[in-house]
Amino acid sequence: MKISRRSFLKLTGAAVGTATLASLGFADSVEAAPVPVQYAKEVTTICPYCSVGCGIICYVQNNKVVGAEGDPDHPINEGALCSKGSSIFNLAYIYDQQGQAIEHPQRIKKVLYRAPRAAEWKEVDWDFALKHIAQRIKETRDSTFERVDENGVTVNRTRAIAHLGSATCTNEENYLYHKLIRSLGIINIDHCARL
Ligand code: SF4
Repeated sequence: MKISRRSFLKLTGAAVGTATLASLGFADSVEAAPVPVQYAKEVTTICPYCSVGCGIICYVQNNKVVGAEGDPDHPINEGALCSKGSSIFNLAYIYDQQGQAIEHPQRIKKVLYRAPRAAEWKEVDWDFALKHIAQRIKETRDSTFERVDENGVTVNRTRAIAHLGSATCTNEENYLYHKLIRSLGIINIDHCARL
């Protein structure tokens, strides 16, 4: 029998998959390949790494992510993830010497603020941070706003603030950010994936 490269990969893949599922006690359900993360809540999110914006399901138990995989219902990736997206679990976890996943000790979970000319960071709450951000945007925008340019052309802009979007956000979220930023007259707008 002549075996092409493609049929060889299919045959060996099927053999390895069958052996693996059998060892996991799934010998009778080889068709149902994915092993479910039982009892965990499913939370959908978007891969933060690049502009493709693949959908991911995070499995959450006791407020902790216990697993993640591609979202088969997502129209962009239909369940597939590249090697970077497949490693998303390791954004929050590292492995101890026994190979157990433990929460990354350096993960920042609180808002940190360093006042002008201060040497130390201090913990603040979100209300403090959001109020400060809003105040500074407003002050900067108002003090640098240009209604007309040097030729008398109406421009209604500020060139003192720049905004960077995020590939972690969905298209819809980035659309709303864009509307907000434009409404403030900010014209220096970019995005890590140029969306
Ligand atoms: S899974 Fe890969 S291709 Fe998809 S968004 Fe993440 S990095 Fe990009």
